[in-house]
Amino acid sequence: MALQKRRRGPARTAQQRSAWMRKSGANHMATQACPSCGSPRIPHRVCMSCGQYRGETVVVKPAAEE
Ligand SMILES: [Zn+2]
Repeated sequence: MALQKRRRGPARTAQQRSAWMRKSGANHMATQACPSCGSPRIPHRVCMSCGQYRGETVVVKPAAEE
């Protein structure tokens, strides 16, 4: 049975935790340009500026575009 040689120390744990926190942080949200309007959009989500998803208008804004 395999045994680990040593536990990872607190510094190494803190480094990895910092990476996890950076990955899950709200200000590290990945964005892509929307194909229809070009504004930044979270992948696999409806675009917040034009309300389109996969070429279809999903969310109709009340009076934003006239
Ligand atoms: Zn858009």
